[in-house]
This record gives sequence, C-alpha cells and structure tokens, in this order.
Amino acid sequence: MDKEKIIVIDGRELRFSDGETILEVAKRNHIDIPTLCHLKGATPTGACRVCVVEVEGARNLMASCTVPAAPNMVVRTETPEVIRSRRMTIELMLTSGNHEDCLVCPASGDCRLQELAFRYKAKGATFQDTGVKYPMETVNPFILRDFSKCVLCGRCVQACNDVQVNEAIDFGYRGAATKIVAKGDLPLKDSDCVFCGECVQVCPVGALVPKNAFKIPRISETTPVKTTCSYCGVGCQMNLHVKNNRIWHVTGCEESAPNHGSLCVKGRFGFDFVASDRRLTRPLIKENGEFREASWDEALDLTARRLKEISGEHADAAGVLTSARITNEENYIAQKFARAVLKTNNVDHCARL
Ligand code: SF4
Ligand code: SF4
Ligand code: SF4
Repeated sequence: MDKEKIIVIDGRELRFSDGETILEVAKRNHIDIPTLCHLKGATPTGACRVCVVEVEGARNLMASCTVPAAPNMVVRTETPEVIRSRRMTIELMLTSGNHEDCLVCPASGDCRLQELAFRYKAKGATFQDTGVKYPMETVNPFILRDFSKCVLCGRCVQACNDVQVNEAIDFGYRGAATKIVAKGDLPLKDSDCVFCGECVQVCPVGALVPKNAFKIPRISETTPVKTTCSYCGVGCQMNLHVKNNRIWHVTGCEESAPNHGSLCVKGRFGFDFVASDRRLTRPLIKENGEFREASWDEALDLTARRLKEISGEHADAAGVLTSARITNEENYIAQKFARAVLKTNNVDHCARL
C-alpha cells in the first residue's frame, strides 16, 4: 500500500483520496460514525459535534465531518471520551427544546435525536433550559414549524440554499435566541419559500413536519413503496409511504437519479388526488348533455367508431393531445396511433411550450 495515503481508523489501515474527510473514509469502509447536521452534497459545517472522534496527538476531539484525512493519522471513533462528549451534546440538545413528549411527536420513530439519545443513554433536561420559546408556525399551507424542537443543526438551511438553491431561510438572531428564519422573520407562506419540502425531508427531528402531521400516521408506521413521480417528464424517484392502502407521506429517494432526494411541491405534497372520492374510476359517456357510467368495452368501442367516422369524413379533423404525465413510451405510441391509424399529423403535447 502507498503509505502516503493511509489513515488508521479503529485499528484498520484505510486508503484515502485527497480531500476526503475522516467521516467519508469511515463511511466508505462501513465504520459507523453517527452524524446529525451532516448533509450529503452540502459543505460540512461541524455544527452539531455528534461526529467527534479522537485523533492521536490532537488536544481536543475533532469533528470528523470537517477534518480531512491525512497520512498516518490515527483515529478512534468510539472511546469513552468520545461517548461522553456525544452524550453531553445530545443532552444539551434535549435540554434546549421541548423533547420530553416523544410519545405525541409526529417524528417519533424517525427522529435522529431520539435514536442518538437511546444509543448514548442520554438523559433529557440535564442542563438548565434557556427559556426562549417561539410559537409553533401553523399558518403555512404544507409545512408546520415547531421551533421548540429545533436543534439548530442547519440542515434545512443547507437544503434550501445549497441543494434547492431557493435561498428562503437562514439563521436569525443570536445566542440562545437563535432561530431559523425566512426573510424578515415572516412565516414561510409570506417568504420566498416555494414549499418544495426539502427542509422537511432533511430535518432530523420533529421541527419541520407536514401540516397535517398530527392527524396522519407517522412516517415510521408506514411502508415505503418506490415509484416515479407522474407530475412531469423529469421522472423524479420517490417513496410513497403507505398504510392501510393509502398514501400518507412522500419522500424523495436519496440514492436515485435524477433527483437524488429532491422533489418539488407537487411531487411531495400533491398526492391527495389518489384517494379523492371525486376521482373518475369508470369511463363516462355523455348523452343528451348528461354523463352516464359505461364499461371500458362500450367506451372504447364508441371512441373507435367515432374516430373512424370523423377521420373518414374530414381529413385532419381528428388530433391527439398527449401529456407529460404519461411515459415517453406511451407518448410515442400515441403519436404513432395518430400518424399510422388516424392518418393525421395533428399531434401535440401539454409540455411543448
Ligand atoms: S423531535 Fe425527536 S426527540 Fe424531540 S420529541 Fe420529537 S421524537 Fe422526541
Ligand atoms: S420548503 Fe423548500 S423553499 Fe421552503 S424553506 Fe423549505 S427548502 Fe426552502
Ligand atoms: S428546523 Fe430541523 S433541520 Fe432546520 S435547523 Fe432546526 S432541527 Fe435542523
């Protein structure tokens, strides 16, 4: 092995590339260093201090997400001092907010802080609470902001500014009064927020949850079903979180192209139509100005007969209008049907503009 590019983590000699951090080398080699503020694809901030490790020769514990691996560096990831430090960090987070009601928190079961508190046997409310409380923001159409649960990790800020490049939120105020704010500390609905929900997806606790989170099953109670978003031709990969044959949450698939976890407001929040009782489930035929239900056979026979009659009588009287909500293959078939069967080039698409 090239000794220039070797780091020792927990006794294992591991190769690294220029610029790789200790955390990245560890992750690549399946060594578990817990993180909270770290967001894939964004510049590491070292804000939460959960990923601290012992580096031989260093006076203090170091945040492994920000420290580049170096030749002959010797790192230990789970020493008593590391464990003590992580426990204290978690206890500080538990103290600084309202984290004693996991039983009724929508994030329970899918909360990084809860998971870490259990792992490091952290006790809640070990330190004195600073007392600064901001009321819950409930006025937004899709997102509920519970500032009492915010641990100021900054993931939402990075997701909004670095990943989605919406630049709608940032840190505001100072010290114990620090808060994640939109411009002018206005509610999200009055800010530059486009409700893509990226911040909700990356929030490691229950500080950002869907608006109806208290009325629907928690994400941890649902089963993810991977699918492709049907709203447009980008083809974002998403997980539908299903319980009792109903979709309750939608999250982007971080491991899949083209979106790598990101979604827009439609893909993330626009799924009510699936369970709508106003949805058409059977073909309708209009007779004397009124719709009546019909079988698929009857509707298709009628459509075929009328298309044949109209195309036969008036060349180019028929046209085919397709949609970005169907696949490329289906769009191809539709234009082929227009040209080869209806003998017309009248083909158009809702996303052509
Ligand atoms: S955010 Fe996490 S730790 Fe806090 S109450 Fe909710 S589940 Fe518990
Ligand atoms: S919903 Fe999207 S735009 Fe709005 S604050 Fe969150 S990440 Fe930013
Ligand atoms: S709202 Fe969530 S993601 Fe944003 S800083 Fe607070 S805890 Fe972190």
